[in-house]
Amino acid sequence: MTNATHPFDALMDITARPPNVFVRGEGSWLWDDHGRRYLDFVQGWAVNCLGHAPPVVADALAAQAKRLLSPSPAFYNAPSLALAKALVEHSCFDQVFFANSGAEANEGAIKLARKYGALHRNGAHEIITFEGGFHGRTLATMSASGKKAFAPLFEPKVPGFRKALLNDLASVERLINGNTVAVMLEPIQGEAGVWPASDPFLRELRALTRARGLLLIVDEIQTGMGRTGKLFHYQHADIEPDIMTLGKGIGGGVPLAALLAVERACCFEHGDQGGTFNGNPLMCAAGLAVLEQVAAPEFLKSAVDAGLFLESELQRQSARHGLGEVRGRGLLLALDLKLPIAASIAAQAFEAGVLLNAPQPDALRFMPALNVTRDEIAALVDVLDTILTKIGAARCVA
Ligand SMILES: *Cc1c(COP(=O)(O)O)cnc(C)c1O
Repeated sequence: MTNATHPFDALMDITARPPNVFVRGEGSWLWDDHGRRYLDFVQGWAVNCLGHAPPVVADALAAQAKRLLSPSPAFYNAPSLALAKALVEHSCFDQVFFANSGAEANEGAIKLARKYGALHRNGAHEIITFEGGFHGRTLATMSASGKKAFAPLFEPKVPGFRKALLNDLASVERLINGNTVAVMLEPIQGEAGVWPASDPFLRELRALTRARGLLLIVDEIQTGMGRTGKLFHYQHADIEPDIMTLGKGIGGGVPLAALLAVERACCFEHGDQGGTFNGNPLMCAAGLAVLEQVAAPEFLKSAVDAGLFLESELQRQSARHGLGEVRGRGLLLALDLKLPIAASIAAQAFEAGVLLNAPQPDALRFMPALNVTRDEIAALVDVLDTILTKIGAARCVA
């Protein structure tokens, strides 16, 4: 083995990254090691719901760090009890299991469904998931995902996931058999390019799963915690799922995730589920500080207003530059470009000091802090307008 020489060489090269090192963040802004400032509409991948380095999270972490870090998952600790109670009070669920990442929370949801099938459905274990869906990068969650690029990887996959089509109830019905125990979906497919399940589809899916005795699992890792304008997306459709997973925004920037379930689905027995750092007081203290902010009605109202403003500004850009639709809800939006120019726009935006995500060749995704200001949205739109004008001019010449 040769020892790494360049500072980047010691990290496994798992994705293309710009050669900048990011050193500081505040609200919607991020600074690199050259002192350059960036307006951030990626926010750690829809993670920093209160923006970068929110003081409430810093304070909660500092106070908890001095008090207690890890008593052991075999003992109760106060922050995890308080956060579980608050999540249960704000949702339709009865119990919570904390995890360290979204994928781990989804693994827990898959295990819980399989356990439910073993106990109550004659060993039924199949879970219907959706084409285009994304549930994480562990073996089981990659298998549950309907992302095409995952299909050839890390064979053999974990069996037991059948893929239906989003917003197509008949495609779900066709896959139900005696082995089916649950249906699992993202209310808005985020990584696929922000493709929403319609509210009527969510209601039909709830009715169907209820009628057939199946569990309904919503992966709200991206859509939860106020991202779409309600604390949890399922509330838009006025349904009560059986299981929900949270991640990303729940920690406001720290690694925290959760698996929530209604009472009849809470069937883990001792030894079935656990994890060394799960429910540790440090992360749960941060989660509690985040939830107190985000669940406040006036906070959600301002996030809704910011989302509507961003949506209308993007629609204006679309009309002006002849682009496609604006999809999504709240502050999880995509602009359809109709052409494979998303990566190029994101690269030009980076040069102009704006961080944007291109989840698909022809779509840009916007996932700013939930407390993003109108001025910051206007600044983003200005940069976007300049880039789109330049691209349009180049296309006319070509
Ligand atoms: C990000 C994401 C995950 C995976 O979460 P990690 O914390 O990266 O493991 C799962 N499901 C959805 C919908 C996500 O957006």
